[in-house]
Amino acid sequence: MVIGAHPDDADVTTGGTAIQFAKLGHRVLFISVTNGDAGHFSNGGGALAKIRRSEAEEAGLRFGVTYKVLDNHDGELTADLNIRLDLIRLIREWKADVVIGPRPYDYHPDHRNTAILIQDAAFMVIVPNIAPDTPPLKKNPVFLFVQDRFQKPNPFSPDISVDISDVYKQKIYAVAAHESQFFEWLPWLAGTLDQVPQEEEAKLEWLGKQRKSEITPEIRTSLAKWYGVERSKSITAAESFEICEYGRMPGDDEIRRLFPMLGN
Ligand SMILES: [Zn+2]
Repeated sequence: MVIGAHPDDADVTTGGTAIQFAKLGHRVLFISVTNGDAGHFSNGGGALAKIRRSEAEEAGLRFGVTYKVLDNHDGELTADLNIRLDLIRLIREWKADVVIGPRPYDYHPDHRNTAILIQDAAFMVIVPNIAPDTPPLKKNPVFLFVQDRFQKPNPFSPDISVDISDVYKQKIYAVAAHESQFFEWLPWLAGTLDQVPQEEEAKLEWLGKQRKSEITPEIRTSLAKWYGVERSKSITAAESFEICEYGRMPGDDEIRRLFPMLGN
């Protein structure tokens, strides 16, 4: 289960890993805690939320995952109790083994509050008297943070790194379902709207170059741990995760069981 603030967050951070899970027969759920109704320069409100919901549905089909968009306003998310309870119920209903989301250090308040909401749901998912209408999980899931570039108060630490080289193209195709974002809103913010290619194939290639997250020396070391030194050298795209201390703390054997795409 991957929880993001906006319809496209889970896609960018965890899309390749999700494709691999889906191919191995696992059920993956993407959640957007907000409906994305502020993410555009000319559309907004309910009309934009409707567009973003249908883009998320299409992305879900392309990834092979279920995509659920919660109806909270974009740009105004707070870590309030009702949303925490919503997430607790969703994690329980999905019977999640692994819950993935952002760290609380981020430029966007919705990302920070999503991180707090997830951490506030961790552990509580096993407490029967919290949201007693939904049966608690028997054991706390493993909670993981997605990769980010923020350095303070401490940088992201890649505990688990997944080689997504072989599914990177498919990831970009799925990410591109969020047309209003990757070909309109984000280029508008960056002042590069005039550089977006018109032709479909060129658009995907352009997006693929933009979205490649950096394989830092730390990530390369993590890839070597999970895939062996030889293979790690040839990996061109990766997604990394840091273990959150508020969930179950998995050892290496459990990580290999939970992430069967990792090498032996
Ligand atoms: Zn976001």
